[in-house]
Order: sequence, then structure tokens, then C-alpha cells
Amino acid sequence: MATLTGKRACPFCGKRIQATSHKCMYCGAFLEAAEGRSIEFPSDELHARKGNWWLPADQSRWAVAAGYLGVLALVPYLGLAFGLLAVMCGVMALRDLNRHPALRGQGRAYLGLVLGGLGSLYNVFVLAAVVLPHFVGRHGPAPRI
Ligand SMILES: [Zn+2]
Repeated sequence: MATLTGKRACPFCGKRIQATSHKCMYCGAFLEAAEGRSIEFPSDELHARKGNWWLPADQSRWAVAAGYLGVLALVPYLGLAFGLLAVMCGVMALRDLNRHPALRGQGRAYLGLVLGGLGSLYNVFVLAAVVLPHFVGRHGPAPRI
């Protein structure tokens, strides 16, 4: 945007300012942020990522995984394995978020923890209800007539 005169228009207020200045002297806006260079996201790696709702670039990958696994945890029988994985990913997500404050995804991390925990419990009961009578019937004492 720099011109031959060494000036450019402030993207916020439109006044002519020095092309090299980082802050508009008229409205006080930070110009680097306006051009997408990192102020909110200091990590270059984070800024380079692309993503969408299904695989958000600014969220912890662990949190995204925990969210999906948490939903899968509600599937009967198979859900037990997904639920345990969801809880594990949720814990990893919270640790990841602690280490990288610029990352988001806390909501999904907790979603994974809660759904994963509930799904696991639910499936433990389902499995117990299905498997235990079978087991007891085979190996338990014979019913008296
Ligand atoms: Zn300005």
C-alpha cells in the first residue's frame, strides 16, 4: 500500500500517514493488525494454519478430537471405547490450552469430557446389563426347580 511519496491511507480513518508507521497518528489504530500481521496471534505457525468449523485452525486439535469422540461415545456398545478416548483427548486439550493461550477450544474440550464420561458410564451399564446375565446364566449356580 506504500506509495512513491512514502505515505498511505489509514484503513480506519482514511487520513494520509507515513507508510512506515505502525500506528495511525490520527485515530490511534494499530496498522499491522489491520493488515493481518500478528498482534492477536503471536505464533506464526498458528497464523499460517487454515481451517473451518469442522477442523478449526485456532482450536486445539485435542479439543476438536474430544468433541467428536464425545458425540461418538453415545453410540451403544462401541461408545465405551470412544468415551474413554474422548475423556483422554479432553484432558490433553486442557493441557494444550494451558500451554498455548492463543488457542481456543475449551468448550469442545469440556464437551468431550462430559459426553465421554457420560457415554462411558452409560455403556458400562449397557454392557453390564447385557453381558452379566449371560455370564451368570452360564457359569452361575443352576436354578432350582
Ligand atoms: Zn487512522
